Amino acid sequence: MRRYSVFAIAREALRFHSGWEKAWRSPEPKKQYDVIIVGAGGHGLATAYYLGKNFGITNVAVIEKGWLGGGNTGRNTTIIRSNYLQDPSSAIFEKARALYETLSQDLNYNIMFSPRGLLMLAQTHHEVRGYKRTVHANQLQGVATEWVTPEQVKKLVPMINLHGPRYPVLGGQYQARGGTARHDAVAWGYARACSDMGMDIIQNCEVTAVRSANGVVTGVETTRGEIGCKKLGIVVAGHSGVLAEMAGFRLPIESIALQALVSEPIKPCIDIVVMANTVHGYISQSDKGELVIGGGTDGFNNYTQRGSFHHIEETLRALVETFPVISRLKMLRQWGGIVDMTGDRSPLISKTPLGNCFINCGWGTGGFKAIPGSGWAMAELVAKGEPGPLAAEFDMWRFKEGRFIDESVAAGVAH
Ligand SMILES: Cc1cc2nc3c(=O)[nH]c(=O)nc-3n(C[C@H](O)[C@H](O)[C@H](O)COP(=O)(O)OP(=O)(O)OC[C@H]3O[C@@H](n4cnc5c(N)ncnc54)[C@H](O)[C@@H]3O)c2cc1C
Repeated sequence: MRRYSVFAIAREALRFHSGWEKAWRSPEPKKQYDVIIVGAGGHGLATAYYLGKNFGITNVAVIEKGWLGGGNTGRNTTIIRSNYLQDPSSAIFEKARALYETLSQDLNYNIMFSPRGLLMLAQTHHEVRGYKRTVHANQLQGVATEWVTPEQVKKLVPMINLHGPRYPVLGGQYQARGGTARHDAVAWGYARACSDMGMDIIQNCEVTAVRSANGVVTGVETTRGEIGCKKLGIVVAGHSGVLAEMAGFRLPIESIALQALVSEPIKPCIDIVVMANTVHGYISQSDKGELVIGGGTDGFNNYTQRGSFHHIEETLRALVETFPVISRLKMLRQWGGIVDMTGDRSPLISKTPLGNCFINCGWGTGGFKAIPGSGWAMAELVAKGEPGPLAAEFDMWRFKEGRFIDESVAAGVAH
């Protein structure tokens, strides 16, 4: 595949952009692959990419029931951070954040990584104690975060109201190299690089059954026929329970809709990502000028991928005290995605009861930021059949054995 560069843009400008190649091929599925990855979200595509890049395994198909990146990867609010409390979490999220720093160069695709800074507001004394604890933990883990005072918060976010009647801002946890990236571009960049390595990305192809014999997977049945494989990776986020059922095992996962919305575009007013976890809302500004706003999950398990009025009301009511400016804004669009939640709010990167079948899920409301690290760790698990150091603690049996990696106590929110 021809490299994207400033010279390529100049050349194409001179010939009316007639020479661009398609970013990825759309091949017919082959009868057999070494590895099939189900799910062409960021995590599935990143897994395929690092299988090729780190282990030289390229006879790979990524099978997607819709269009690539059309699941949660294309529906999230793009927050990237690694200020997690528990050691296994901060290790994998920091690996991902570090990979994001150079991902555009690595993929030769501009993913618009914007390390604009990430601020988590402390608005109760409980949060002050909790976030200071996380800052100390992060120092031990080698993750650069700091505690900031209300005055420093005001400098970072001039439009904030520090003295809300219910929840005044008491300080915050700040990660200067946290930020955002363009979510579609992350999926597109990985897809292009996978296709370039000879992998097949097969869209509009739903896996409807998993075939196995003698405790190992032999292939999958799909809406485009049966496809054989030597190894299977299931990376389908909110549909993980469905795929696991096809494969004959159960997962400690619940599927719940998470919604987000954007305002009408306005002039630049906030150049940082702010999360207000007590009231449960978070906010950043897109390149187009829209305020990107998210809140909590639905209060019941479901598979819907759409917005609802009460969420607009709840999320904006929560945020308006701290950001009075949004009371004057029209909201433009709202949507939902199906997130895959575990009890300890940490992911699964795990072997399964089937010998050659591996699962990556449970990223819940916060897996966009993890995509490169998760793909890296999952590729190692699939290639070697055993987890490497990044994935070692994230097996599914921890719920049976009580080895929780409890991030819900750390933030109560994971976006
Ligand atoms: C509103 C919202 C806001 C969020 N905000 C953030 C945030 O700010 N920061 C952050 O880090 N994370 C955030 N997240 C979470 C993040 O989006 C997800 O954790 C992450 O995108 C999951 O990626 P994935 O590749 O695992 O899943 P997905 O992108 O959902 O990909 C899974 C794919 O599997 C496919 N699939 C399912 N079943 C089948 C089948 N039977 N056959 C074939 N294909 C199948 C689906 O079509 C889908 O494309 C948010 C999520 C939502 C919904």
